[in-house]
Amino acid sequence: MSDISPALPDALAAFDHIEARLAGRRPLLCLDYDGTLTPIVARPELAVLDLDARATLAEVGRVCPTAIVSGRALHDLRERVGVPWLYYAGNHGFEIEGNGLRLNVGDDHRALIAAVRDELARQLADMPGILLEDKGYTLSVHYRHAPERVLPALYSTVDALLADRPQLAGRTGKKVFEIRPAVDWHKGRAVQWLRERIEGDLLPVFIGDDLTDEDAFQAIAQDGIGVLVSDTPRTTRAHYRVPDVEAVYRLIAQVGALASRTPARAAAG
Ligand SMILES: [Mg+2]
Repeated sequence: MSDISPALPDALAAFDHIEARLAGRRPLLCLDYDGTLTPIVARPELAVLDLDARATLAEVGRVCPTAIVSGRALHDLRERVGVPWLYYAGNHGFEIEGNGLRLNVGDDHRALIAAVRDELARQLADMPGILLEDKGYTLSVHYRHAPERVLPALYSTVDALLADRPQLAGRTGKKVFEIRPAVDWHKGRAVQWLRERIEGDLLPVFIGDDLTDEDAFQAIAQDGIGVLVSDTPRTTRAHYRVPDVEAVYRLIAQVGALASRTPARAAAG
């Protein structure tokens, strides 16, 4: 499979391919939040779902297992989405809950994450436009509003801090550094974890826009369907593309419609 995919097929236009890949199996629908279910906004707290969006998620969650898989803290995600029968994987999958399932990875790193937060708050105090977000299991350093000139100093501060703490690792997202426990866990492992625990012959369908979503695309590359949300080409392991959030909801609705038809079709032989 090619890593560079400038001409990924549009998931809506090629929905018959997706239907063929599912071939009667149940989709395990996995959805990133920011940039996927809500447009990217200036401040993370402003990314809210409207009623139509919530209704679409509530509905699809009734016909196939549906997980929200995000870098946000789990409690934040749960509040924002507010549909009790979905699965929620917060902190890039470090904390998972839903329908009786529960997982916490990296509990023993929380004190270290808090110490790093305090240290960074001190070191970056004079740097404009930096927002630290302590999510318990991971720490986000948002720099969307930082002027270009401060970025080299920001990079070297974060690098130096991580170099002294081999128990932690850094990841780059969209205008954000994610500082997290240096353990082999990510959105892709979270999806596989869910897949192994939810009943049925499931085929993961993962829709996401972020660089951390590539871990999920990679994990399901051989047996799953990855959909990148992007209006510009980029290096990806996804199989399909949709241009924007609006198209994501159309795709979710189509997957839901397909999932609700599948049992009847199977029964009809
Ligand atoms: Mg995203």
